[in-house]
Amino acid sequence: MAVETKLYDLLGVSPDASDSDLKKAYRKMALKYHPDKNPNAGEQFKDISHAYEVLSDSQKRSIYDQYGEKGLSGAAGGGGMDGIDPNDLFSQLFGGGGMGGMGGMFGGGGGRRGPSGPRRGRDMAHALKVSLEDLYKGKTSKLQVTKTVICKTCDGKGGKEGAVKTCTKCHGRGVEVVIRQMGPMVQQIQQQCRQCDGNGEEIDPRYKCKQCNGQKTVSERKQLEVNIDRGMKDGQKIVFQGEADQQPGVIPGDIVIVIEEKPHPRFKRQGDDLHYEAEIDLITALAGGNLHIKHLDDRILDVNILPGEAVKPGEIKVIEGQGMPSHRHHNMGNMFVKFKVRFPESNWTSEENIKKLEEILPPREALPKLPEGALHEEVFLSALDLRHHKDMRGGSSDAMDEDDEDAHHGHGPGVQCAQQ
Ligand SMILES: [Zn+2]
Ligand SMILES: [Zn+2]
Repeated sequence: MAVETKLYDLLGVSPDASDSDLKKAYRKMALKYHPDKNPNAGEQFKDISHAYEVLSDSQKRSIYDQYGEKGLSGAAGGGGMDGIDPNDLFSQLFGGGGMGGMGGMFGGGGGRRGPSGPRRGRDMAHALKVSLEDLYKGKTSKLQVTKTVICKTCDGKGGKEGAVKTCTKCHGRGVEVVIRQMGPMVQQIQQQCRQCDGNGEEIDPRYKCKQCNGQKTVSERKQLEVNIDRGMKDGQKIVFQGEADQQPGVIPGDIVIVIEEKPHPRFKRQGDDLHYEAEIDLITALAGGNLHIKHLDDRILDVNILPGEAVKPGEIKVIEGQGMPSHRHHNMGNMFVKFKVRFPESNWTSEENIKKLEEILPPREALPKLPEGALHEEVFLSALDLRHHKDMRGGSSDAMDEDDEDAHHGHGPGVQCAQQ
């Protein structure tokens, strides 16, 4: 039992008062002595607020019970009020509103969990890998979750009515604080209460619930039906309110399903748009032809390239309305097609045919005239051999594939090589 009762006396309660007794007592006293109502009672308001601040904190109350106020001031970091403004504590308790005339001063405590009201349990997050096909078409997925639920046999009490008693050592908080003195150092260590093994309660073993073995909760498997809407995106959340683990006296949190979009072998998604890379041969690029793109719902898009369209390597074209459906809207994104043009192999045709090409294709662009007296040397291109051109290797094969982009700026790989 408590070595000292001053703080309990200030609130007019006995040392075995429950948390709710304490709260009630403080509420009554705080209203009576609040400086707005009772300007001469400033000190009393401070004192009762201090008493409540200590006793409503399980760790501090445990220290106080074992060591009195000496324990609180001697312990590391435990200096009396801990810098808490009594008004702040007051507003936490009254939730900042509902105090009529005093309303103006209670704005500060927002967002903090006050000592009033039940605690809210944690949310449970589950990642759900979804293919782009399913995000395109929509799907209902079944997900098995294992969660903790209140034992129905004992209704979350752990045993027969009356068999469960609050632990007398830790007042039901499950932890005790021991103070260890090592020379001038005072250390506070919070540990599991040894009397109740951290349960905060002791259950007469004869009346313990057999179903949950006095644990109050049991594990249960549950199947959730997750509706994946058309157009949902990576990272989007589907919330099952109050479906997370249950604990007695705790409002269960939510199960939050987080969509994780699987990478797709054909498409890259960007918002509601899809990006596709198509490879066509040179004749299709120049003389037209068709291209098949298998869509996410297995439709085949038959893409027409018109004769003379002259699709260039690296060029991006768009197929309107063939992207992803927009989530909760009726419009569709677009599909962007980036072209690769497959050129014929070296020495692919006869000299006569090449001559014909010269007649057909647009003429060569004339080179600028060499300045008078310029040094001028004729050179030839060789095939690139990465074993001999080690510096080129760093660029990776990807960079080599992208050299068509460089070609637009007039820097072929041969030129890059010569610059180094
Ligand atoms: Zn039970
Ligand atoms: Zn205990």
